[in-house]
Amino acid sequence: MVGGREVGASDEALLALALALIPRVEGIMGEAQLILDELRLFAEPPITRPPYEQHGGWSVGEAHRRMRQVEYLVVHHEGGPDSPEGSSALAINRWQRGTLGYAGIGYHIIIERDGRIHEGRPLWAVGAHAMGFNSNSWGVCLIGNLSLTSPTPEQMVSLRWVLRWLGQQAPGARIVGHGEINNTACPGSNLDVAALRADQ
Ligand SMILES: [Zn+2]
Repeated sequence: MVGGREVGASDEALLALALALIPRVEGIMGEAQLILDELRLFAEPPITRPPYEQHGGWSVGEAHRRMRQVEYLVVHHEGGPDSPEGSSALAINRWQRGTLGYAGIGYHIIIERDGRIHEGRPLWAVGAHAMGFNSNSWGVCLIGNLSLTSPTPEQMVSLRWVLRWLGQQAPGARIVGHGEINNTACPGSNLDVAALRADQ
């Protein structure tokens, strides 16, 4: 039977059904998007650990405080006043351990002007590089004074690699310049931290 009234009634029923389904469809679409996002993450090849120069002697002891969940990747420069080109990971370690009395170098990773990457404090250990953020951040330091000179292309290649690799170890961790969380000019005006973040 296809009477006008019956069609009208079933149209109304269809409309009511459609309206009732919209939120469910939206929910399903949202879930599908989440699944797609996760699949995309899986599809990205894992980032291998960049070649580190390791310094067992720099490592803090097992009793050192352990890192909480890492929420920030903090970028620093050496920022010494004497020379734009700066010194070396070795010299920073000597200074921080000796003069400052730290338990070894306070950064987790140090990148020299030629792009070589040095291990500082082990990643499991709380660092000494950003007041108030040491127990939930990793510190990466570029050698040189980046207020006076630019990072070298080799440093930028290594820095991007390090940040992507660290980001994979701590998904969701936000890249920040030291000056965004503490009152300091570090990591210098010649390093574009916003661009690093956009790359993330
Ligand atoms: Zn700094």
